[in-house]
Amino acid sequence: MAKKYVYYFGDGKAEGTSNMKELLGGKGAGLAEMTNLGISVPPGFTITTEACVEYYKLGKKYPPGMWETALASLKRVERSMGMGFGDPERPLLVSVRSGARASMPGMMDTVLNVGLTLKTVEGLAAKTKNERFAQDSYRRFITMFGSIVMGVPREHFEAILNLKKEEMGVRHETQLDARALRDLVERFKSLVKEETGKGFPDDPNEQLKLAIDAVFSSWNGARAITYRRLNGIPDHWGTAINVVAMVFGNMGDTSGTGVAFTRDPNTGERKFFGECLMNAQGEDVVAGIRTPLPVTELGRTVPPAYKELEHTYKRLEKHYRDMLDLEFTIQEGKLYMLQTRVGKRTGISAVRIAVEMVKEGLITKREAVQRVGPDQLAQYLYPIFDTQSEAGSTPLGKGLPAGPGAAAGKIALTPDRAVEMKAAGQRVVLVRDETSPDDIHGMNAATGFVTARGGMTSHAAVVARQMGKVCVAGCEAVEVIDNQSVRIGSKVFREGDYLSVNGSTGNVYDGDIPVMESEIIQVVQGKLDAKQSQKYQLFSTILSWADSVRTMKVRANADVPDQAKIARGFGAEGIGLCRTEHMFFAEDRIPIMQKMILARTKEDREKYLEQLLPLQKQDFIGLYREMEGFPVTIRLLDPPLHEFLPKREELMVEIAQLELTGKDGVKLEEQRRLLARVEELHEFNPMLGLRGCRLGITMPEITRMQARAIIEAACELAKEGKKIVPEIMIPLVGMVAEMKSQKDLIREVAQETMKRYGVKLSYLVGTMIELPRAAVTAERIAEEAEFFSFGTNDLTQTTFGFSRDDAAKFIDHYRTVKIMDADPFATLDREGVGSLMKTAIAGGRKSRPGIKLGICGEHGGDPSSVEFCNQLGLDYVSCSPFRVAIARLAAAQAAIAEGDAKTTVKKAAPAQAKAAKVVKAVRRAKATQTAKAVKVTKASRRPSSTTRKKR
Ligand code: ADP
Ligand code: MG
Ligand code: MG
Repeated sequence: MAKKYVYYFGDGKAEGTSNMKELLGGKGAGLAEMTNLGISVPPGFTITTEACVEYYKLGKKYPPGMWETALASLKRVERSMGMGFGDPERPLLVSVRSGARASMPGMMDTVLNVGLTLKTVEGLAAKTKNERFAQDSYRRFITMFGSIVMGVPREHFEAILNLKKEEMGVRHETQLDARALRDLVERFKSLVKEETGKGFPDDPNEQLKLAIDAVFSSWNGARAITYRRLNGIPDHWGTAINVVAMVFGNMGDTSGTGVAFTRDPNTGERKFFGECLMNAQGEDVVAGIRTPLPVTELGRTVPPAYKELEHTYKRLEKHYRDMLDLEFTIQEGKLYMLQTRVGKRTGISAVRIAVEMVKEGLITKREAVQRVGPDQLAQYLYPIFDTQSEAGSTPLGKGLPAGPGAAAGKIALTPDRAVEMKAAGQRVVLVRDETSPDDIHGMNAATGFVTARGGMTSHAAVVARQMGKVCVAGCEAVEVIDNQSVRIGSKVFREGDYLSVNGSTGNVYDGDIPVMESEIIQVVQGKLDAKQSQKYQLFSTILSWADSVRTMKVRANADVPDQAKIARGFGAEGIGLCRTEHMFFAEDRIPIMQKMILARTKEDREKYLEQLLPLQKQDFIGLYREMEGFPVTIRLLDPPLHEFLPKREELMVEIAQLELTGKDGVKLEEQRRLLARVEELHEFNPMLGLRGCRLGITMPEITRMQARAIIEAACELAKEGKKIVPEIMIPLVGMVAEMKSQKDLIREVAQETMKRYGVKLSYLVGTMIELPRAAVTAERIAEEAEFFSFGTNDLTQTTFGFSRDDAAKFIDHYRTVKIMDADPFATLDREGVGSLMKTAIAGGRKSRPGIKLGICGEHGGDPSSVEFCNQLGLDYVSCSPFRVAIARLAAAQAAIAEGDAKTTVKKAAPAQAKAAKVVKAVRRAKATQTAKAVKVTKASRRPSSTTRKKR
């Protein structure tokens, strides 16, 4: 049997259905479904995407039988309408509309009014007794056909139209009378003749054929190709074509056309939302020719049609169980539906629609969880600019949208000024070439920051996400002149001038655009009562549903109690990474830290460490308290020591000045000594230098002090009856011997400390996996390490050999030339880094079955990476406090996806299904194990049976 290339719809019955999108395209499937539902749709037929694919295979020829079936279907349309295509008495006109599987706006314009000829235009006028309408349709047809099919630039038609309006002294084309339009038709035809050398086709069948060819060809037009590249749509899909009997919105004041959404796509409110235009055709509404009216206006102008429209949209929404986007036309008071599809929406409305549809019984909670994109959820957290004010401002420059949200405030050009200005009660925007750990105090004081250099994972960007600040990074328009002035685009700003920053788009504006803070953050910080905020209710409802389906836990990366508190507010179930060095960067500690580093002898060093001990302990007590018994993973000191010391160049300048003035001899000596030490500590490549556990191994007294602070803090709380299970994490381990050396030290300190307090604690000692060597020798490392946490920032750096601070430049280029699809510092590289993770997991489980596994790199808050971690069977992901909610949702979606995958796998490949089952079983077993952490700890002190056998 010959392949079926054409599907008819009309008279309440269609050959297609809504689930034939692949074959009929989105538009065709929608038209078929509406027809089957008995909704008023003009009859027509769909030529399949397969026909398009064949057309190309055959060298731009119709596949056998396609044209004949199309003509036969056209006959059915004629019968249904009681009209004839090309019939001068009762002329049938059709539209020829493209429609791929995925919506591709702007790929090809629709041709309306196909079938108008010298004869039929007269017939149309006579039949409708409306000469003006007939000529209006004809001039529209020549414009569309002439530009889309015959390639005459649209502007030429528009120029002639504008000329005509001028001649007639009218503003709108609706004011042109029949004679004027008739004249326009003549001029348009001469234009086509001039431009193409061909006469305008006057045979309806030829018009139809040319229009079909044009739609097929548009699939490989430049616009379509670009669109597909940008949106990842495969070239081999092809487009379907819909040929639909015309209905007319341009027949007078009881006719019109419109587009609508079944709910508000911006807010999600359950109310009919849309626009319409009376006496208009096609896309006049969107084209902005006249200002459209709200769709509800139809209730006044054409009440019965509006009633039916209301009835129809409600019915369709119920049927599709989603918010829809509709296109319709009203011809002399009668409603026709022309398109329906699932409507695009903002994040704010996505959540509201999902939650309310569950309450209305339309969808399940699980479906609601699937319908909200993690990045859509994130929109609930961003402070935002007042929309109208922003629309009225022109950006001075654009950088990377590195910390979403909106901030406006006075410019500070140094961190110290930022702190002063904040203290004086001002909103501050910090503008820098780039930021470094020394700037933290200023960044903390600012509501937003802008840097001239750096990428999406630059220091500024990472800190912005962690602190929840607004950030535009790498804004090339920014040129810092000195400590008091900066040029941004065309304008020079002084410190204290107002600047507005949109971290969601990357735009930077002059002036003070009003900002609104997110309600969710206000609730989490205790500034707003949860009950007062509808947004918070929606946000927490969808997350509670997400929690009920996810299997992976979500923790936060938090260094200080304030961050921990916010993390809890967002539902974090523990701390996955506390970077202790951030505690040393605090203002009151950095001088002690510097003295410790400068100390020449171990004894001296211990003296200063002794001073740091109580401060660290207080930090840990604060963290433990906030986490209310949830696990807290504390990483020992990691960065290279020079980060705590002043910069070499700055010291040299200061010394030169002191030498010049010759006033302060003591200070000069001090600074010289400092410089000497800074130079001693100088490393050619600090990233690969003395850092991570190498620090604690060469200066064990640092590890000792930290271990003591961690255990003492836990003991003190244990005495209050609180159960704390610290997880002590050794950074940058590459060899099992490194792990063992640090672990032995910690055990020794812990034993002694617990004895001193008379407390028996359980605690774990584990490591970060952030070096390829650690991953490939994980089996050995797990003999010592009681947990693994994947430090995927460093693991990505060390796997690729990219420094993340320098890679932004060439990664962009790599993406443009298609060497890489994504930034591996933002989205986990499954192929390379992921493969090392798999190796590490397998090795770790081999020597320590049930080893606790987590991830604490920036990837822990990236939805695609979270999905991958779920597949790997990690116990938890840890991310910045402000990403916790997003990770909860992403983890739920990953669990649902995996659940679905498992059911299909079960039938196809039993072996894989078995593997999936094992992961599940391990996870279940571990849930119980965590509760019995004490046992695990005890057991791990002895070599496990597997490792004993191996030796
Ligand atoms: P797009 O894919 O760009 O939305 P469509 O094929 O939906 O293009 O056509 C655009 C508009 O043209 C429709 O919204 C509708 O207003 C008008 N239109 C298309 N077909 C017909 C028809 N048969 N009768 C009346 N108007 C039509
Ligand atoms: Mg449309
Ligand atoms: Mg690291």
